[in-house]
Amino acid sequence: MFGMPNKRGAETFPRVHLCEVVRTRQVTPMVQRVTLGGCGLAGFPAVGADAFAYLLLPPAGRSDLTIGLDFDWAHVRSMAKDERPRGAYYSVRHHRPERLEIDLDVVLHDDGVASGWAAAAAPGDKAALWGPRVLFLPPTDAAWTLLVADDTAVPAMLSILDHWPADHRVVAVAEVADAAEVRDVRPGPCVDLRWARRDRGERAADVVRTLRLPPGPGYAWGGGEHAWIQELDALAADVHGIDADRRSFTSYWRRNQPTGLR
Ligand SMILES: Cc1cc2nc3c(=O)[nH]c(=O)nc-3n(C[C@H](O)[C@H](O)[C@H](O)COP(=O)(O)OP(=O)(O)OC[C@H]3O[C@@H](n4cnc5c(N)ncnc54)[C@H](O)[C@@H]3O)c2cc1C
Repeated sequence: MFGMPNKRGAETFPRVHLCEVVRTRQVTPMVQRVTLGGCGLAGFPAVGADAFAYLLLPPAGRSDLTIGLDFDWAHVRSMAKDERPRGAYYSVRHHRPERLEIDLDVVLHDDGVASGWAAAAAPGDKAALWGPRVLFLPPTDAAWTLLVADDTAVPAMLSILDHWPADHRVVAVAEVADAAEVRDVRPGPCVDLRWARRDRGERAADVVRTLRLPPGPGYAWGGGEHAWIQELDALAADVHGIDADRRSFTSYWRRNQPTGLR
């Protein structure tokens, strides 16, 4: 349904949270941070490190939301196109429950409904979040973790690193466009964070192929463009021997194919 991730373990108890834009900030040339807030975010639960939600937006040419607290996906499918909300999945980069605020880091790209909305978003603009859900579910015996992300999964990867215990070994590989997209983060002592830059011909797949991972049982998580993440998933399985029940690789978007509601 609408490109919705459908993986074992991803089920929490998502519901709709009405909210509005509080402020925006350009994080990098390609990433716009949209801070959402409002009383509707009261009770937005902390479900895990890579929490994500469906960002629901007004229909094209409208500023009012056409859904309410009784929102459900079956109803959305039956709505007329000019009444149907638009939207896409986004990760919770930061959640400040004490201020009822959530930051989404939105990659700006051509021809995107949600991306275009984020680029022009202004305080007071109405939106809603349907969620949260999680896909990062490491087994309790994992001695180390491998994280891989393209630009769209960098927010979730950084959120995972923010939440991660300092003594757990992590190898994190992020592939971004160029130096301006590399985030200034200071990961903990057990985190080996590597940035692959496409402008230098670097690819996450090449980094992962030659990694020497720590001994013992591990866990691998990743998100990115459909074909890109399939290649990373295959490398984790074939080169590093990580079993299917220890891998959670998710297609976040598809090249030349809309996945969001429009
Ligand atoms: C669990 C999950 C978490 C996600 N978290 C984030 C997040 O935190 N930040 C984020 O930016 N995205 C995130 N995404 C990806 C985001 O949902 C997709 O990129 C989505 O397609 C954007 O919707 P849109 O309306 O802008 O574009 P769409 O209408 O879906 O697509 C329009 C066109 O744009 C292309 N396109 C879509 N995304 C990109 C892109 N990133 N770069 C270049 N072309 C693109 C499509 O191929 C299509 O041709 C996440 C996805 C999932 C499943």
